Amino acid sequence: MSDVVVIGGGISGAACARVCADAGISVRMLDRGHRAGGRMSTRTLRDLPQGVHPADTGAPYFTASDDGFRAVVDGWLARGLAREWTDTFHTAGPFGLRETKTGPMRYASTGGLRTLVEDLADGIELRTGAEVGPLGVHRLVDGETPKVVVLAMPGPQAARLLADHHADVAALADQPYDAALSLIVAFPERTWPEFDGAFVSNVPEIGWIADDGRSRGDGAPVLVAHSTPEFAAQHLDDPQAALPDLLRALRSVLGASGEPVWSHVQRWTYAKPTGGREATFHLGVGGIGLCSDGWAQKSKVEAAWRSGTDLGEAIRDRLA
Ligand SMILES: Cc1cc2nc3c(=O)[nH]c(=O)nc-3n(C[C@H](O)[C@H](O)[C@H](O)COP(=O)(O)OP(=O)(O)OC[C@H]3O[C@@H](n4cnc5c(N)ncnc54)[C@H](O)[C@@H]3O)c2cc1C
Repeated sequence: MSDVVVIGGGISGAACARVCADAGISVRMLDRGHRAGGRMSTRTLRDLPQGVHPADTGAPYFTASDDGFRAVVDGWLARGLAREWTDTFHTAGPFGLRETKTGPMRYASTGGLRTLVEDLADGIELRTGAEVGPLGVHRLVDGETPKVVVLAMPGPQAARLLADHHADVAALADQPYDAALSLIVAFPERTWPEFDGAFVSNVPEIGWIADDGRSRGDGAPVLVAHSTPEFAAQHLDDPQAALPDLLRALRSVLGASGEPVWSHVQRWTYAKPTGGREATFHLGVGGIGLCSDGWAQKSKVEAAWRSGTDLGEAIRDRLA
């Protein structure tokens, strides 16, 4: 029997489980996906002319302004798991790249961002392919009733699990999220101007493009474009049908020519919360904990890590 069961193997769940495990609390994780990572998802493209390339299909990078997260990132950098990608992105419009903008260092990962979540959860029991249904009144999860059940996922997904028997916590969890589609496209060769990432405006279909080969550091001719929330909302039922429009928009911005050797559209129904919160987590007297990027002022990888870490510390203090 575990003291804590964390539902959700994204970075907030992994961070929460990490604190519990390091404090000697028995904890295990469940995720419905086939691997950990959540929205820090990586898809391995095989059979490209250049060989194998892990492409980031969700978050393309992260920042590290939080001191605690910075220490974790330093560990990843020292072990070669994370890499400094760039502090300079472009802006872009319908007819090409415009100026550059310098900001904070953006970090990427040599193996794709998913590997960082897996590293955070290293040594902690994780059952994948485990879709958890609505929580009963006694919080029975996967055959056990732990002292604390953590829901580490977007608010609407948590609210659905809680609605039947924990309506008060469901109301706390719920919040609006925007959707997104990610177009991942591999070309035979690079035919676009040199850039790392570009914030795109005045293009109805896409809001962001990343050169995934430059982010990974392997130079593979792979681009990832994220749709606008409005475009995603129109194509959630059939994301693959949006591929031609997304590709046309990508070509108009970058001038990328040549026929793709591989392409795919990934759907993110709950990509980012539309608003923020002051509190970084919720831990109720009934033993249900909530964390995720929705428990932050702004949705970010580092905010999700902070949310999970703060909840883990509150659980540690409660169970001490
Ligand atoms: C397209 C896109 C672009 C982004 N860009 C950036 C960026 O540039 N920089 C940045 O910092 N952040 C970015 N983000 C945000 C960042 O990815 C998230 O803030 C962070 O990954 C959220 O982590 P999380 O643990 O809160 O949730 P998630 O990663 O969503 O993890 C939730 C997990 O719960 C699991 N789950 C859900 N329901 C169940 C269930 N019933 N049973 C079992 N498991 C379940 C899911 O499978 C998932 O693995 C982006 C996100 C997207 C989608």
